[in-house]
Amino acid sequence: MERKQFDIVVIGAGPGGYVAAIKASQMGKSVALIEKQYFGGTCLNVGCIPTKTLIANALMLHKIKHASDFGIEVGPVSFDYGKMKTRKDGVVEKIKKGLEGLIRSNGITVFKGKAEFTGPSEIKVIGDNNEIISFKKAIIATGSEPLDIPAFPCDHKKIFNSSSILDLTSLPTKIAIIGGGYIGCEFASLFAELGVKVTLIEALPSILSLQGTTIADTMTKAFMKKGIEIVAGAAVEKIDTDGSGVLVHLKGKDPIAADIALISIGRKIVSAGLGLEKAGILTDAKGAIPVDETMATSVPGVYAIGDVTGKFLLAHVASHQGVVAASNACGKLAYMHYEAVPAVIFTHPEIASVGMSPEEAAKSGIEHAIGKFPFQALGKAVATMETEGFALIITEKKTGRILGAQVVGEGAASLISEMALAITNELTIECISDTIHAHPTLPEAWLEAALLATDTPIHFPPKIKKG
Ligand SMILES: Cc1cc2nc3c(=O)[nH]c(=O)nc-3n(C[C@H](O)[C@H](O)[C@H](O)COP(=O)(O)OP(=O)(O)OC[C@H]3O[C@@H](n4cnc5c(N)ncnc54)[C@H](O)[C@@H]3O)c2cc1C
Repeated sequence: MERKQFDIVVIGAGPGGYVAAIKASQMGKSVALIEKQYFGGTCLNVGCIPTKTLIANALMLHKIKHASDFGIEVGPVSFDYGKMKTRKDGVVEKIKKGLEGLIRSNGITVFKGKAEFTGPSEIKVIGDNNEIISFKKAIIATGSEPLDIPAFPCDHKKIFNSSSILDLTSLPTKIAIIGGGYIGCEFASLFAELGVKVTLIEALPSILSLQGTTIADTMTKAFMKKGIEIVAGAAVEKIDTDGSGVLVHLKGKDPIAADIALISIGRKIVSAGLGLEKAGILTDAKGAIPVDETMATSVPGVYAIGDVTGKFLLAHVASHQGVVAASNACGKLAYMHYEAVPAVIFTHPEIASVGMSPEEAAKSGIEHAIGKFPFQALGKAVATMETEGFALIITEKKTGRILGAQVVGEGAASLISEMALAITNELTIECISDTIHAHPTLPEAWLEAALLATDTPIHFPPKIKKG
């Protein structure tokens, strides 16, 4: 086998790995990037980008269906899901080509194959050309994959996971979605907008329980209004399949029949088969690689980033960790902070949050105030008929520091950036209320929520009404 030497080797070309590779190369190091399946990883191929492309189709359809509310008559509307899928594949391919060019233009050497440690400073690449790479520093970015449950394994014909469901070329009449976390909810919202009858099954007492009760309750109501059936507190025991569809058996409840089922109950860390033990790299019980705030593993010179660390499982977190790990690997000290990680759920309406939730603030013991402004009272939202939702800010009473923010409604994914910037830079509630927000815009919801948090609302009645 041929042997090659690099300053830094990165395993996995997802949003964690390719960003780390580019950063390390920019910092003047020779970089090898090893990828076994696809450039862009889960995010580009079977995650963020394909799902949001399909969701964009559904939103377009939603707007066309509601055109008559704006005085626009469009006549009967139809769509071809096969064409939507083709568009989605095209978007992924286009971005992938761009990414490959970006990697090339940064002078990164790419190896196509499966990486396996053979020692603390050596990796074997099993692929078209088997090669041995020796390195000074390594960054592991091998990500995660859908979790398969032995009691109801995916056959990818009637029972799908979040990857194989993206290959459908026509829609079912009825789908049972098992798992009411963010991935299950995004698919529920997508399919319901496209006219599929959706049953969303969740083992916990509510959907989106990780996001806290304010968001969970709002989305439960929004989904029910869309005709999504939510079966919460229901444990799936098994799923029978036959030629006509699936029958989902629930513990102590009636079974649910559908054409197909989607399993979206979690992700499995990809660390098995990497030869970590040969390099002395430790993992936890779930296979995640523990790291410190510099993204260093238990072995000096070896870093881990992204989903494989079991933290957050979000593309932008993986990328940020990639920059931190690459900087440290290149000798420039950098730390990872998690106080201001924005998280977006691309349902309709959209959901976004950053920092503490109201429930976490209550538990923290910090004396705080909450300002919650409904979109119904926002001029821009009324003008565009997108009045569902709210913007909420949590602030520490003593210092005015912003502790957290949540937003549900049109534009939530973009709106959350203002609060991420505020929390990252330790801004106070006055910084928000002193900022001139353009009118009429959705970000005015933050200004109004900030004023509510300090009991000085302008476009909302005061708590104690005068006269
Ligand atoms: C349906 C869905 C929707 C999502 N939507 C969003 C979203 O809207 N926003 C968001 O922030 N996040 C979203 N995510 C999560 C996001 O995709 C992941 O958090 C992100 O991809 C993690 O990046 P990563 O680089 O850690 O790993 P991955 O993207 O999983 O990439 C890991 C790469 O490593 C490669 N690899 C693994 N083992 C080896 C090996 N031994 N040798 C060589 N290569 C190897 C894999 O082939 C893969 O390409 C979504 C996920 C799913 C499933």
